[in-house]
Amino acid sequence: MIYKRQNKNKININPIQAGGILTQDAKKTLIEWGDGYSVCDIWYSGKIDKIENPQIRKFIDEALPKFLGSDIVRIIGGAREGICAIMRAVTKPGDTILIDENKHYTTVLAAEKNDLKVIEVPNSGHPQYKIDVKDYEKLIKKHKPALILLTYPDGNYGNMPDAKKLGEIVSKYNIPYLLNAAYSAGRLPVSLSAINADFIVTSGHKSMASSEPIGILGFRKKWKDILFKKSSFYPDKEIEFLGHYQKGAPMMTLMASFPYVVKRVKNWEEQVEKARWFSAEMENLGFKQLGEKPHNHDLLFFESPQLYKISQKHKDGRFFLYKELKKNGIYGIKPGLTKYFKLSTFAASKQDLQKILKTFEEILRK
Ligand SMILES: *Cc1c(COP(=O)(O)O)cnc(C)c1O
Repeated sequence: MIYKRQNKNKININPIQAGGILTQDAKKTLIEWGDGYSVCDIWYSGKIDKIENPQIRKFIDEALPKFLGSDIVRIIGGAREGICAIMRAVTKPGDTILIDENKHYTTVLAAEKNDLKVIEVPNSGHPQYKIDVKDYEKLIKKHKPALILLTYPDGNYGNMPDAKKLGEIVSKYNIPYLLNAAYSAGRLPVSLSAINADFIVTSGHKSMASSEPIGILGFRKKWKDILFKKSSFYPDKEIEFLGHYQKGAPMMTLMASFPYVVKRVKNWEEQVEKARWFSAEMENLGFKQLGEKPHNHDLLFFESPQLYKISQKHKDGRFFLYKELKKNGIYGIKPGLTKYFKLSTFAASKQDLQKILKTFEEILRK
């Protein structure tokens, strides 16, 4: 049985997919290394992160720490797993943690899994929903949290809070600081040491052109023993990830795309410029971009009452927008949404975006 995918080779503005599209090298690598336990062809030490052929050891010990500005990295199953593992390592059940209101839902699930109380730093509300990191300070004093988390950027508005300033604030209180970089690391330069955070989690399948499921957890040396306690029975195995990391297809596609990812983060300013241009053009059509303005990320959230109005009379109802876009080879806005929607300009060329604008214009004119 071969499963066919219907949305291949379309203009893709789906925010959760735009940064995870494989490079040509990664596609070939995926076929080469898709077999189960393929990375263990030549495997002397019994440790995944010490494999020399393919060169996984150097990737984990050298390339990734340099890329993320961290002392040590571990390969994990995605940002959510990293968040959960850090909570488990640095808190006790019943502790309070301090997070931003724009957090990803998995942050809350991870807190629930670890029996933690969650306090949120509120955003500024409609229309920008900004997080002012200065607001962390009074809540730190009031609640004495065991962990501080910042979502950089959030997955709804694509707002980029001042992570570095939060690093300065937090350093006065000696509380571990976790940066959720699921939507940033692999799209733009992000450095744990420059931000002065303790931990960073990234998502390979969201922002590093990799197959699922994979992510990276980067951290400072001082956390090593706490985070990665060794088994008393198998002294070279770390307990947290049950002795193994992500391997096989996700690992090898992450490695195959990595040289390209290292290069593409250097073009981030062009990405921001493209997103700002697109946002301004959408506003010219009468849509309203919510979240930070001017915007600093490719993830854009729009309010579109005109489309909602059309959907109330259209024979396809609220699915009309999805169908119209699909007809034009455009894919990635959630089927059924009209009043609000988010999209990403990351993977689309300016020409693609021009086509999207033209399509919206025609929809509004009809
Ligand atoms: C997608 C996303 C996650 C979850 O990432 P996974 O790697 O799939 O676990 C976490 N946080 C944010 C902000 C996200 O956008």
